[in-house]
Amino acid sequence: MLLIYCPYCEEERSELEFRGAGDAHIARPTNIADISDEEFEEFFFLRDNPKGLIFERWRHIHGCGRFFNAARDTVSDKFKLTYKAGLPKPDLDATTPAAPVETYEATESNAK
Ligand SMILES: [Zn+2]
Repeated sequence: MLLIYCPYCEEERSELEFRGAGDAHIARPTNIADISDEEFEEFFFLRDNPKGLIFERWRHIHGCGRFFNAARDTVSDKFKLTYKAGLPKPDLDATTPAAPVETYEATESNAK
């Protein structure tokens, strides 16, 4: 079971208590009524889909209910860091090799 650290509750909880809420650090245009349809499309719909480290918003929906941000590796599905909403994007070393991928076969071979 995947455990996620809630920076408000200050403890790891089951992934079943959380819900993803899209990309983090997406700045809403201050002049949203004045932007073109293309600019709105880019702000509202278009997202990067990188392989590796991403920054996301998450909500502890079945816990404290608060939103927070997380840095997660999309290859290993490991959370590198979680931090309170409103804090700046942390400067993580992107060259850090990802943790080994937990495969079903690897997990089952360790089962007793
Ligand atoms: Zn919480």
